[in-house]
Amino acid sequence: KRFGGLTALDGVSVKIRPGEIWGLIGPNGAGKSTLLNVIAGVFRPEAGSVHFKGQRISGLKPEQICRRGLARTFQICRPFPRMTALENVLVAATFGTRADGQSPQSRAEAMLDLVGFALPVHTPADSLTAAQLRRLDLARALASRPQLVLLDEAAAGLTPGELADLQQLILKIRNQGVTFLIVEHLMRLIMQLCDQIVVLHYGRKIAEGTPLEIQGSPEVASAYLGE
Ligand code: ADP
Ligand code: MG
Repeated sequence: KRFGGLTALDGVSVKIRPGEIWGLIGPNGAGKSTLLNVIAGVFRPEAGSVHFKGQRISGLKPEQICRRGLARTFQICRPFPRMTALENVLVAATFGTRADGQSPQSRAEAMLDLVGFALPVHTPADSLTAAQLRRLDLARALASRPQLVLLDEAAAGLTPGELADLQQLILKIRNQGVTFLIVEHLMRLIMQLCDQIVVLHYGRKIAEGTPLEIQGSPEVASAYLGE
């Protein structure tokens, strides 16, 4: 993926199997959000392709990709500000697939409950704090019944207690068969949660492996230390 003269992603290749939790790490500007946006169909890459469940999805629109079972959260949450928390999640619940006959209303309520959204569900989105917005964004992503969820810094601004909740929640949802690709700065969360980690640096993949392998990688250490 290029932005003018800048190659934001350069020959990055990753293969994620169903049910795995993957971490995507790298210094600021490494291309992490860009990779999520390429996968989710927000950016169209100049070369290369994205395949999901055996089918090529690059070139499809974000809403078409979402319908196929791929949901994401945003580094900067952008809810519909004038709508309530419940209405925001209801949009996604109505939009997603509905194989199991659950009504969008009960799906939306269940997702807010699942993420521990502690406020009245009729609270307007524009009066939520950053931490509450993160939960709303996650509930919205899950409401569309995804098989793959992309999280972009979902832990930013959370307290230690909220972090532990998020970690348990991701594991619980993974145990229902959902796959995750998680961009995160908090190394402890990444190291505890992920089966595999991929490391980007200036748009290139510099390492891939288990948390243990990544922790021992000299390339990763020097990318983070700026050598
Ligand atoms: P990360 O999420 O790893 O911090 P990004 O994927 O946001 O990094 O950005 C990777 C590089 O691409 C950065 O140099 C950034 O400035 C650039 N970039 C990202 N989005 C755009 C855009 N929409 N237009 C131009 N440049 C962009
Ligand atoms: Mg980013």
